Amino acid sequence: MKKHGEYRIPGFMDSHLHYLGIGMQADIIPLYHITSVREMMLHLKPHLHRPQMIGRGWNQNRFDDRLMPTKNDLDQVSRDIPMVMYRVCGHVAVVNSAMLERLNIESESQISGGSIDLETGIITEAALRLIDDQLQAVGLEDIKRYLIQADRLLLQEGLTDVMSDDFIVTPLPYEMIIQAISELKMEKKLHVRITEQVHFRALSDFEDFIAKGYPHRDYGGFRLGPLKLLLDGSLGGRTARLNFDYHDAPGQRGMLVYPDEVLKRYFDLANLAGMDCHIHAIGDGAIDQFLRVMRASIKDTKRTDHRHAIIHAQLATRAQISEMQALGVHAIVQPIFLESDIAMLDDRLGARKSESYLFRTMAQSDIKVGMSTDAPVESFSPFHNLYAAMTRQSARDHQLGPHLQEEAFTLDEALRCYQAHNRYLFRQEHEAFDSEITLDRPLSDDPDEIRQTQVIEVRIKDEVVYHR
Ligand SMILES: [Zn+2]
Repeated sequence: MKKHGEYRIPGFMDSHLHYLGIGMQADIIPLYHITSVREMMLHLKPHLHRPQMIGRGWNQNRFDDRLMPTKNDLDQVSRDIPMVMYRVCGHVAVVNSAMLERLNIESESQISGGSIDLETGIITEAALRLIDDQLQAVGLEDIKRYLIQADRLLLQEGLTDVMSDDFIVTPLPYEMIIQAISELKMEKKLHVRITEQVHFRALSDFEDFIAKGYPHRDYGGFRLGPLKLLLDGSLGGRTARLNFDYHDAPGQRGMLVYPDEVLKRYFDLANLAGMDCHIHAIGDGAIDQFLRVMRASIKDTKRTDHRHAIIHAQLATRAQISEMQALGVHAIVQPIFLESDIAMLDDRLGARKSESYLFRTMAQSDIKVGMSTDAPVESFSPFHNLYAAMTRQSARDHQLGPHLQEEAFTLDEALRCYQAHNRYLFRQEHEAFDSEITLDRPLSDDPDEIRQTQVIEVRIKDEVVYHR
């Protein structure tokens, strides 16, 4: 038998993901491979311990009889646990009697947009929002269950330290998220160390956060860290703010979330509180706004020790990268986005795609380039992310890559971003390495090998917190 002991490396850090979102996503029962209603019922039975059951992916076109599942089918699995099973398209779902009771629908006429069939339990389109509202109404105990789920999943992939954006994932007040995580930390039920990228729905919430003395608070393994904001949208939705028209939508340039004055206020408050700003900006238009407002704010607040960073920075141009370097602005990037984005870069950007995802160019300047995944948007596996960083390809759409081969990282370069650069962005570069993971093989220069790597064991401060 092969001993695995020799393949040990420090635990992985991820500088931007959504810890709570990962736990919530894990709650969804996948039904993509189901080929009959009977199989679906069998597949649901092991989940009867849950307070509610959410599934996704059934498709009656794969069933012999092509009949949709109904309320009666689900009632045979459970009459008491509220259940909703979404069709693969997400526009149709079937619910059981317990869920219908929870929705409290007296007559089908109450619904505007979409439909609810009380007989079959089939719900469509806008009426599905009633279910979303129900599922969103989670409390402290649900939040804790999701967090514990996320912790286990991240350890399986060798992640020991993350920066995470969780405050606005649910409609609950931000202080309830702080309470949930800090209580679980005290009870030693969460092992992964979390630096929260604090994200607020409104400026008044951020003012409240500061007034209550929350900045920099450390609960032991859970710290309240940088301010997180979103400046623009996404390339997929054509909402990322560009300085040029979308190639496939002439006249459209995306959007900015904030006017400069409001963004400046956020920056000023963060700078005065000594907080870093980790800010989502994808398009070059949004990156311009970041640089313009940040420059004004550090001048007014006389901040000198910031480690502000742009999250995503997919369309940072070479000129903007020079400006980032001059201002001491860093980047938190997700090579794994190529997994999905590579298929649309031509459509959205046309010739401008030659100035996108310039992550290696950034890392070769003085910019710290923190590796991250933004999970659950994409997989949080550092091995999948390393594959994308080193190949510039999508493992799914292999024929489409590579996107700008010269931007491909070597293994050492990518690991430096995962380790040294992330440690800098976490403000932990002076702390000793105290986490270690054991792998089933050495990390090689072969990206396909790396993608297959499995984590055998995770230790944090000499305690084994995960063993496969
Ligand atoms: Zn995110």
